[in-house]
Amino acid sequence: MKITFFSTQPYDRIFFEEHNKKFGYRIEYFEVPLTDKSVNLIQDSEAICVFVNDHITPPVTEQLAAKGIKIMALRCAGFNNVDLKSAAQHGIRVVRVPAYSPHAVAEHAVAMIMTLNRKTHKAYNRVRDQNFSLHGLIGFDVFGKTVGVIGTGNIGTAFCNIMLGFGCRVLAYDITEDESLVQAGVIYQPLRDVLSASDIVSLHCPLNKNTHHLIGPENISIMKKGVMLINTSRGGLINTRKVIKALKSGQLGALGIDVYEQEETLFFHNLSEQIIADDTIARLMTFPNVLITSHQGFFTQEAMHQIADTTLGNLKAYEEGHTLENEVTIAGL
Ligand code: NAD
Repeated sequence: MKITFFSTQPYDRIFFEEHNKKFGYRIEYFEVPLTDKSVNLIQDSEAICVFVNDHITPPVTEQLAAKGIKIMALRCAGFNNVDLKSAAQHGIRVVRVPAYSPHAVAEHAVAMIMTLNRKTHKAYNRVRDQNFSLHGLIGFDVFGKTVGVIGTGNIGTAFCNIMLGFGCRVLAYDITEDESLVQAGVIYQPLRDVLSASDIVSLHCPLNKNTHHLIGPENISIMKKGVMLINTSRGGLINTRKVIKALKSGQLGALGIDVYEQEETLFFHNLSEQIIADDTIARLMTFPNVLITSHQGFFTQEAMHQIADTTLGNLKAYEEGHTLENEVTIAGL
């Protein structure tokens, strides 16, 4: 079977080439994202492999079907970028990598908290400039603080366990509660109560119509003044413009984002020689208490191995007519 890859970076090839030794697929890699134009690059493939910022809209799906694509393998967990209804209408099956080292993303969220809090990024630059002053570097003990976790699936669970290890009081909100987390000491509360009591809030729920702009004016107003907000999940969970307003007023004390609403034109590319047209991210980049990373939460050796192996395994299961354990369907939503 031939697979056409979109949005590939050199590091994707390294991991997929290594794992493909076991599977032996013909793989064609393209760096460009999948769009209604780049879909024309597909030749003789039955499968495509796409990533977080490839938008599989109905017009794209229609063209994929016309190209003979039968299966779409997402090399990520989230699938908010795929129009599942349209894929089903065109007989294209969709598979994903539901869990790959949840620790990778959870640990990145913790790295963001500790960087914003203890300002190690500033200390690193200062010391290299022979500036050994501590002025402006003061942080707070994370021990004893209240941490609010929104979404306690694979990643949220790993995050809760780390924060319990720090000695935090961990509050959580999810549409389904995890008994093992309750046993471990996590306290489930309604969303409003979690947001209003937390010193740090970390988002780990998927982006869907219920969670879009979950962090908007109303929920920002009930949060503690000076709260730290961390989003490693999906950009659309927060209303970025309203968050900027809250940063300006001091209602929001610190912001760490690994994801951004309009990230597809920015993230994963080196734009250092270009003028950034997006004024919203440009404004965010001016705040001293904002840390932005470009969707690197997943980016560990362990996660990349799992992503490559599971993605190719999903395609193998399809090819051999087995049950697709990692299939995403509208019925399953
Ligand atoms: P998961 O499916 O295991 O967990 C999601 C949890 O969110 C579930 O427990 C679910 O019940 C809960 N949830 C659903 N709707 C909710 C709502 N309205 N309010 C509160 N909770 C709700 O997913 P996961 O593997 O833990 O991943 C979480 C998210 O992290 C993904 O959706 C993806 O967007 C993001 N992610 C980011 C990166 C990265 O590199 N930054 C990597 C992987 C995943």
